[in-house]
Amino acid sequence: MARKLAAGNWKMNGTQAALTEAQALTGMFPAPSVEILLCPPTTLVYAMAEALRGTAIHTGGQDCHAHANGAHTGDTSAELLADAGATHVILGHSERRADHGETDAIVRAKTQAAVAAGLVAIVCVGETLEQREAGETLDVVRAQLQGSLPDTIEADKIVIAYEPVWAIGTGKVPTLDQIGEVHADMRKALAGRFGDDAKMLPLLYGGSVKPTNAAEIFAVSDVDGALVGGASLKADDFSGIISAL
Ligand code: 13P
Repeated sequence: MARKLAAGNWKMNGTQAALTEAQALTGMFPAPSVEILLCPPTTLVYAMAEALRGTAIHTGGQDCHAHANGAHTGDTSAELLADAGATHVILGHSERRADHGETDAIVRAKTQAAVAAGLVAIVCVGETLEQREAGETLDVVRAQLQGSLPDTIEADKIVIAYEPVWAIGTGKVPTLDQIGEVHADMRKALAGRFGDDAKMLPLLYGGSVKPTNAAEIFAVSDVDGALVGGASLKADDFSGIISAL
């Protein structure tokens, strides 16, 4: 069985004052039965990891460079994130694929770098509205998985997040059947490539997850958790999602 993970992606939101939200979560979940992760902006990774030290809540980055160090002004490597206290990193989010032209090959190189640095890589895939309407969803997601993951993986170092681009920040959510179809297909594709290890990989759903819809999404087969944007910014909202898992 795959482990369960509730991951929050704060995107480009959160100043030091927002650390109180992370601290509030530690009080609500002193010994959680699922893994909990917050991925703040890079500027907060160290402070959040320090604030959460000794608690059950992990800290992650939202991207990393494919190289460990060097002349890459403005970038952050997986090694630097790990040094700052991160245990996870989100890779290949659709906003990075769109804003920074990240290809599957780039995401794959970053995934290898993250795992080499000891981080858990949360690899994001998902179709656009045009691709869904053209009936290409399963092909697009399979191709992204194929291209974004290395050929050999450590099952405890990889998480997959299915995030339909049209569901992110829009309040629109696929039907439960649509989520189930993609997750089952991802599990099948991963099993074909990685064998029994595929059963261990958490498959997260992301895109307009809220406390009000989390339970029904988590009841879908092969959904092992969520990657949450807006509703992870406030402990009161995110706690409702965590409790539903
Ligand atoms: P929302 O939950 O705000 O739709 O964002 C989802 C997301 O992109 C998480 O990575």
